[in-house]
Amino acid sequence: MGELVAKLKASAVAAVVMSGCHTWFLRRHCHHVTILMYHGFFEENRADGLEQYGSRWCGIGDFKGQLDYLRCHTHVIPFEQLVEHYQTGTALPDNAVVITMDDGYASNYRLAYPLLKQRGIPACIFVSSRFVEHREFLWPDRLEYSVWKTDSDELEIIIDDESLRYPLGDEQSKIEAVEAIKLQVKDLCHRDRMTLISQIEDKTGQTLSDQGETPVLLEPLRWNEIGDMIENSLISIGSHTVRHPNLTTCTDEQLRDELVSSKALIAQKTGKACSLFCYPGGTYDGRVKRFTKEAGYHCAVAIGGAFEKKGETDLFELKRVGVARGMRVYGFIGRLLR
Ligand SMILES: [Zn+2]
Repeated sequence: MGELVAKLKASAVAAVVMSGCHTWFLRRHCHHVTILMYHGFFEENRADGLEQYGSRWCGIGDFKGQLDYLRCHTHVIPFEQLVEHYQTGTALPDNAVVITMDDGYASNYRLAYPLLKQRGIPACIFVSSRFVEHREFLWPDRLEYSVWKTDSDELEIIIDDESLRYPLGDEQSKIEAVEAIKLQVKDLCHRDRMTLISQIEDKTGQTLSDQGETPVLLEPLRWNEIGDMIENSLISIGSHTVRHPNLTTCTDEQLRDELVSSKALIAQKTGKACSLFCYPGGTYDGRVKRFTKEAGYHCAVAIGGAFEKKGETDLFELKRVGVARGMRVYGFIGRLLR
């Protein structure tokens, strides 16, 4: 049903674009700033099915179409220009768009960066420092990998002495199981979350590790790739914490470490100050915001699916619009024109 509605919406947007009316919609939105949120990318003709286990993967063909639309009809600006606008009131172009990518996947460099570079389009990549520095995989990747790979027909997990069972008989059941488990672990503190992920890896017998064959989709960036991207200042690097925890569940000490250690490592490795921050899972509260400011960041992005207005905003609650897998160019334009 959701897919049908998405298709109908995309057809409606296609009709609007073909009639030329989309420029009228864009003019209506010209005082808004849209911050787009991507994660990793995959080559459609090499997809192995793992990309279906989460909405955060974008086909590189779709991304190319989206960039071409943005280049023709909007102004994609560096994140720093947006921050400066809110700090000092400097002018922004109409229909300003900022591109962000979360986590630090190698596909940002290997697939997305060549397209950005060809077109001279800037972007900001938020890196989880332990993922890149130690190739310590992120918990959603570990969960998705172990369920995707397993031959078991069922998974039983224990949370708070309660037994939960998920059928894994076919691909669709596996995808649904991953979605359900993500909801279960969303609000857990990092230690409990990782204990549960280890429990799932034990039960499925499938562990994502750097020793084995890492699916190309889940590979982290390398520092030399980051160095290459920041050389011409088209790409900026922000922090996405050290371990990617739900920050609202961290103690004060853990919170400080997540904010300060990642900032320091990124600055040391890139030779550039790291002043942009991204809340993992878009989750924050008043304490997290306060600590983020105290750590010396200039802004922080969340999720929120909304648009920022020019002029005034809370720089530590910047909302972003997620671009989902399978969002063809008309679906994407629909997100921009909402
Ligand atoms: Zn993330």
